Amino acid sequence: MEDRPCSDEAWCPNRVGLHDTLGLRDLSEHSLKSCARSSCRSLCLIMLSSSTMRAARFYEPGVLKLENVPVPTPAAGEILVKSHVVLTCGTDAKMYRRGHPFAKPPLIIGHEFAGEVVEVGSGVERFQPGMRVIAANSAPCNACHFCKLGKPNLCENLDDVIIGFTRQGAYAGYVVIPERIARVNTYEIPEGVPFEHGAFLEPLACVVHGNELAQIQRGDEVVVIGGGPIGLMHLLLAKLNGAGRVTICDISEQRLREAADLGADDVINTSGVKLHEAVRERAKGYGADVVIEAVGRPETWSEALTATRKGGTTMLFGGCPSGTIVPFDAAHIHYGEITVKGSFHHTPSSVRRALELIASGKVKVAPLITARMGLSGVEQALKEMGEGRALKIAIDPTS
Ligand SMILES: [Zn+2]
Ligand SMILES: [Zn+2]
Repeated sequence: MEDRPCSDEAWCPNRVGLHDTLGLRDLSEHSLKSCARSSCRSLCLIMLSSSTMRAARFYEPGVLKLENVPVPTPAAGEILVKSHVVLTCGTDAKMYRRGHPFAKPPLIIGHEFAGEVVEVGSGVERFQPGMRVIAANSAPCNACHFCKLGKPNLCENLDDVIIGFTRQGAYAGYVVIPERIARVNTYEIPEGVPFEHGAFLEPLACVVHGNELAQIQRGDEVVVIGGGPIGLMHLLLAKLNGAGRVTICDISEQRLREAADLGADDVINTSGVKLHEAVRERAKGYGADVVIEAVGRPETWSEALTATRKGGTTMLFGGCPSGTIVPFDAAHIHYGEITVKGSFHHTPSSVRRALELIASGKVKVAPLITARMGLSGVEQALKEMGEGRALKIAIDPTS
């Protein structure tokens, strides 16, 4: 990006005819930095807001259109961010395939993003244009029953503002961070941390929350069912907790290879074998201390419970559609004193912890990116995600 001062006459938007000379895209680029510190800032912002941007908009299952739409304007408390990296998420792929109850088309999807502040709404003091930022996709209200109980991830008003679901998302040139998220769950990216790493903030925060609930002890035998990006982040955190042996179960050889490369001590290809039998065989016949389900299917939920040893913990992280009934052996849970826990979303503290883990390099997220594409590749990226052919694809909306 050009970083020229507005005193440079050739670039100043006050110059008559510049709009035509540079074209809207160049003008927006110019607005980003020079206007943050110049007297013609407001004029630039007016021109920026009258610009358009490319965006991947979801219309109905299987229909995603790349369109030119107006660059949004941040309201009070909001932040307008130029989107630099957006990671594909399994939820985006699901939305593309079968829609989502929150989605009111046309909707720009994409919620795992990192970018640069270009404009802030009134009252925003923590952020200024030019700052590199990351944000979670939602934030708790801090006022409802569950927020007051200290369970902000279960906030009853979470749906009010979710980027890429109930608010416009980040597969676009620009994205607005809504007021509540800007206030509670937005951070400056620490120096030296690339946008690509920062964009892992939200998914890692979810995994951090689940990992805290699982209470993995040093030396524990941990089994993670599912070798997608979420399962692999569970692997990384379990290792960080000092787990003894971490085994990844999946039906894809490619994913199992990726898991081994990332440090899995053992992998099990569960196609054609009974998962709990394979786990018990390896764990002295007892089963694992902690089993984490990161798939979200009734069969694997059931296997997760059966593969847990007496006194152990089953962490059900992958979500099944509501109304799903999962059969399990009541005796195993009762006489085996199995602790069964669900895990949902993230909390402001797990978001902060995720940021620390990314910034310190304690959790190395880079290997989870298996491809990179421009904005025109979003549809293909979501198809590849849906077919399990990619872990995370980094979309660069600036290209
Ligand atoms: Zn996500
Ligand atoms: Zn709440």
